[in-house]
Amino acid sequence: MKKKLTLFLFFLTFLAQNILASSSHVDIVEVAPGIFVHQGKHFDVDESYQGDIGNIGFIIGKNSVAVIDTGGTLAIGKSLKASIREKTSLPIKYVINTHVHLDHIYGNAAFNDKNTKFIGHSKLPEAMQLRKKFYEELNLKYLNIPVEKTIQIPPSILIETNKSMILDLGERKIKISAYSTAHTNNDITIEDLSTGTFWAGDLLFIERTPVVDGDINGFIDILDQFMSLNIKLVIPGHGTPTKNWEAAFKKHKNYFVVLRDGIRGAIEEDLGLQEAIETVAQSEAGKWELFDVQNARNINQIYPQLEWE
Ligand SMILES: [Zn+2]
Repeated sequence: MKKKLTLFLFFLTFLAQNILASSSHVDIVEVAPGIFVHQGKHFDVDESYQGDIGNIGFIIGKNSVAVIDTGGTLAIGKSLKASIREKTSLPIKYVINTHVHLDHIYGNAAFNDKNTKFIGHSKLPEAMQLRKKFYEELNLKYLNIPVEKTIQIPPSILIETNKSMILDLGERKIKISAYSTAHTNNDITIEDLSTGTFWAGDLLFIERTPVVDGDINGFIDILDQFMSLNIKLVIPGHGTPTKNWEAAFKKHKNYFVVLRDGIRGAIEEDLGLQEAIETVAQSEAGKWELFDVQNARNINQIYPQLEWE
């Protein structure tokens, strides 16, 4: 009897440890040597959003670590940090945010340390400030997170539009590039020069319907530029990292061309916004997840801009 009880207690402890362990770190995959990605799930912000929908991860050099995007909540940021600490004890020297959207920045506070520098587009601090209140309300509404726990940490190292910066993590250089308005007005990408791994942020969506929150024409131009990159692997902002990156950029661009041309046609035919939402780009519906809701949002965003072309 005593033996059974001991076994039972042992089993309980084992269970508790596993539950604790699984809640304190995020699942990561090593997609290239020293490059780890946690892939978010394709939930919409209005539905089943757990703050864990975007891709986040880190790059380990010989003497330091760079984190790329931190997730939608402080808790996810902490879990990402725990995953980093399972792989290395090197200092986390940089936290890089690919852009302002809430699913990419609200884990930053988990990395707040005097030795860690935050990096972003020169337009990111203002964009964060402009959205602060709205994002605090969203996190309260959907995640029940009190406003004081939705903490912004803006970047202190800024990269100007169309400029690049190279950082050395120790025998490992990464190139950060800032873009003109596309997905947002504060998009950057990160290229690991030693493995040819390219973190596209939300300048590339795979599986999930792409989002325009900036300028669709600028976005299409950048997707064209990406075709001449000399890289091996792309990590999208949402979806599965891929070596077949040319096809991924093409598929993304194709949706945007169909979307843009469809909206232009609707405006020419005097279709109203609502009718445009119901009809434009429907040929793309079967190719993407969360299509109806996001395609409608894109049309809502783009239609008024194209009306003034
Ligand atoms: Zn985004």
